[in-house]
Formats: sequence, structure tokens, C-alpha cells
Amino acid sequence: MVSVTNTRADNYYNEKKDVLLILEKIYDPEIPVLTITEMGIVRDIRFHSDNSLEIVITPTYSGCPAMDVITFQIREALISAGYSDVKITQQLSPAWTTDEISESGKQKLKAYGIAPPDRRFSPPADGVECPLCHSANTKLISEFGSTACKALFQCLDCKEPFDYFKCH
Ligand SMILES: [Zn+2]
Repeated sequence: MVSVTNTRADNYYNEKKDVLLILEKIYDPEIPVLTITEMGIVRDIRFHSDNSLEIVITPTYSGCPAMDVITFQIREALISAGYSDVKITQQLSPAWTTDEISESGKQKLKAYGIAPPDRRFSPPADGVECPLCHSANTKLISEFGSTACKALFQCLDCKEPFDYFKCH
């Protein structure tokens, strides 16, 4: 029996997996507990016939200053892993939404003390669940938290201030 496998496709798949393993180690500069893959920032990995490698990323929101840092980090990580011709392109459409944050990513956000985005609520009117004591008795302190992607809330029960990752 001769098994027919498409080796080219297999290699392609394995190479993509290698690249993904590298990208999975890059953390989002704004949320240091989440990797860029957990954030859903990486849209595609493409190998081109001229041997260049293209990484397609999407900005978490337009004009996010973290994208420059992320682009730099991706390039550096891939070059030090031996990829010499690396191109990073940004895809704006379809726009990134907080729904692209993985489930494990949302749990990590919470554990880190950032309230994860929750589409059931439209803050600040409905309040946001406090990541520390889980009270929804919270109030908006500032539209902008530690970074422009976050809003600053305070819990009225445990009194702790916390960042809320804004929905897009
Ligand atoms: Zn609280």
C-alpha cells in the first residue's frame, strides 16, 4: 500500500505551525498577560513563492499605538528564529472585535484584574462586573484607563479601581 500524502501541503502546514508557536510567545504590550494570538490579532500566516513570510495582523482599534510595538516584536522574534524575509501587513477589514479574544484569554484578563469585555452589558449604564469581588455595583471614573483601549472603573462595594477592556 502506498499512502498518498501531499507532502508539500504537509510541509506548509508544519511551517505555519512553527511560526504560530513563535507568535504564541509574543505578549500584547497593553495587556501583558495575553499573547497576540489569544487577543486574536494574528489573522494569517502566508509563505510566498519568493521565500518571504508574511504575517497578517489586525489592529485592536484604529490608531492603537501598540500595533507598532507588536509589529516590531513579531519581526524580531521571527528574524531571531531564522526567518530572514519577514513582512507584516495590517488588515483593517473585517475590523477586530473583542469577540476575537479567546475564552482562555478572557479568563486571564479577569485573573489579571481587568474586566473582560462583556456584550451583555453596555457600560457604563449597566455597570461592569468587578473582577475582584464580582459586584456589578461599579462606576465609570474615566473613559480612558491605563491605556486608550481601556476605561477606568471603580467598584463601589470593594472600592477597588479596575480597568475595563472596552468593547468595539
Ligand atoms: Zn469589587
